[in-house]
Amino acid sequence: MVDSRTLRQAPDGRFAFGVGRDDEGRVQVEITTPGGRTHVHAIGVQSRDFRIERVEGVPQSTVTPDPAIAARIAREQASVNRARERDDDRADWAAGFIWPVTGRISGVFGSQRIYNGTPRAFHSGLDVAVPTGTPLRAPAAGVVTFVGSDLFLTGGTVLIDHGHGLSSNFLHLSRIDVAEGERVEQGQVFGAVGATGRATGPHMHWGMNWFGVRIDPQLLVGPQPGP
Ligand SMILES: [Zn+2]
Repeated sequence: MVDSRTLRQAPDGRFAFGVGRDDEGRVQVEITTPGGRTHVHAIGVQSRDFRIERVEGVPQSTVTPDPAIAARIAREQASVNRARERDDDRADWAAGFIWPVTGRISGVFGSQRIYNGTPRAFHSGLDVAVPTGTPLRAPAAGVVTFVGSDLFLTGGTVLIDHGHGLSSNFLHLSRIDVAEGERVEQGQVFGAVGATGRATGPHMHWGMNWFGVRIDPQLLVGPQPGP
């Protein structure tokens, strides 16, 4: 158990949970043994320094949206958040993660974003600059829990649930090859890179969550494979 959430266990005994960008101190993991004994492990959380990134040239309507657009953004975000609450017994995450595309990293997790001079939420994923149409491969197997072809901020949007509350989200897609409810295997092409929604150019945006907690995909995937 972490906080008040009871964790699932993979067949090999592993379990997963996430720690937020700005969490500090200790995470209390309460473990109950098969014999019914309970003990608590305290895991220290190390803080990280995050960059400040200035993004200029996105349409101002995406930075300071009018009320109708703001309502649309909130509605779309609520649908995405609902998909992230899924809690499946599948442990697809346990097989590890691969890079959905490789290329120049153009944005990292956690950086404070300043759009056209206005500070906005931190960047919640990993960006790799590659041309529109570059195939995107599932980083791990899972079930597609959300597909949106034209969200205001994130354009073509796909969520893949890897089980135990771990999910990936891919934004700004130019093409989507999967439907909600479909299973994808690791490495399977599920769409293509684009620049739809609020984007200054084509790139892969890969975000990951443990339920509502945003986590850094780069910590899970390791270095890019060599050429
Ligand atoms: Zn991004």
